[in-house]
Amino acid sequence: MSSPSNTDCVVVGASFAGLACAHALASAGMRVTVLEKKASSGEKLHTTGIIVKDAIDQVALLDGLPSELVRRINGVRLYAPSMQHVDLAAPGCYFLATDTPRVMQWLATRAEQAGARIAYQTSFAQAARLHSGFDLGANGTARYVVGADGPNSRVAKAVDLGQNSQFLFGVEHEYANVEIDEPDKLHCFIDRRLAPGYIGWIVAGVGVTQVGLARRLGSRQFMENTVMAAFLEKIAPIFDFRGLRPVSVRAGMIPCGGIVHPVAGPRVLLVGDAAGMVSPVTAGGIHTALKHGLAAGRAIADFLSGTAEDPCGWFVRSYPRFRTKRLLRFLFDHFQSDALFNLLLGTRPVRMAAGIVYFHHKGAFGSAADITHDRLSERQEEITGPD
Ligand SMILES: Cc1cc2nc3c(=O)[nH]c(=O)nc-3n(C[C@H](O)[C@H](O)[C@H](O)COP(=O)(O)OP(=O)(O)OC[C@H]3O[C@@H](n4cnc5c(N)ncnc54)[C@H](O)[C@@H]3O)c2cc1C
Repeated sequence: MSSPSNTDCVVVGASFAGLACAHALASAGMRVTVLEKKASSGEKLHTTGIIVKDAIDQVALLDGLPSELVRRINGVRLYAPSMQHVDLAAPGCYFLATDTPRVMQWLATRAEQAGARIAYQTSFAQAARLHSGFDLGANGTARYVVGADGPNSRVAKAVDLGQNSQFLFGVEHEYANVEIDEPDKLHCFIDRRLAPGYIGWIVAGVGVTQVGLARRLGSRQFMENTVMAAFLEKIAPIFDFRGLRPVSVRAGMIPCGGIVHPVAGPRVLLVGDAAGMVSPVTAGGIHTALKHGLAAGRAIADFLSGTAEDPCGWFVRSYPRFRTKRLLRFLFDHFQSDALFNLLLGTRPVRMAAGIVYFHHKGAFGSAADITHDRLSERQEEITGPD
């Protein structure tokens, strides 16, 4: 284990990006300390925690993820503002809903087993530049610093790196002992009034049902008190959560403006949400945080062991630029129209576009479910609400 007073690398933030980075550094033999202001890794999370199949395929760190921590979701049911819906699926594509607090604890254990030291209840506050590293005050000195400390990065502020300026704001309720119809689908709701710039969602997770929405504008209080109540009212004819008490509420900012600039400087770099590494369209950031967190750890280890240049230059050029997705974000922000979605949801071009957003390069969708009809009126006759 490394001493906090003098270490090779300090990683700030013990979440997806920070734990992946620390795992790679420790696996390469580096002394690494992770500073985490919370008391444990699974505490007070702000994410739905859905992991895309590409992450499972591409991120070796997820190998061996215990099956009881995940639940497979095979497709998407996308609802127009009118509540008409279309089902989307792509051959071989799926998402994993997760017991995210336990996934995070599992990742933390993996980083510790590789040799990383995680200092909980320890906040990063400042960093003064030294000749070959940083002085972090009470947290000692480090030859390299990684800011993996989320959307409002303190590291970025302390060392004058770029900061996120565009955000979605998300809020989510978790309900226990609730079953929903079509639990193997991610249910997504388009509604410009309630979720301008993004969507609402329902997913049958691991042991809980998660109901959330995110939008461009709004404080946490406004989202929780006003918008969430209106969303629950809207979906009640199909999924009635009114009157149920959530077992937990998660909320947080989601960067949606792309990679910050500058994202790195000599002996310091940002990764994950701190770097703005979130898809501006889907708002998914777990895959990129893990993938680039691991890669950053390897690149820093190579630099510190003298076999590569400082990754602040060459490595960060591999970060995603999200050019097309930032364009789509602009279009969605400025031209989102409930009337158009009501009219066009069932048409082939819109279903194709939605398939590409949800399943990326897999394109549209195969022979799986592909129906559009008036879900609302049908369900009003069938059910009064979930158990
Ligand atoms: C409501 C919501 C739902 C989402 N759902 C999904 C989803 O289903 N799938 C998906 O892919 N993405 C989702 N996202 C986005 C995803 O959660 C993030 O992209 C992801 O968590 C980024 O991980 P990270 O490690 O970069 O940062 P974070 O998860 O934000 O972690 C940052 C860590 O740094 C710590 N920290 C912060 N400041 C300090 C400090 N000064 N000192 C010490 N520690 C500090 C924090 O306590 C935290 O542990 C969602 C986001 C929100 C808000």
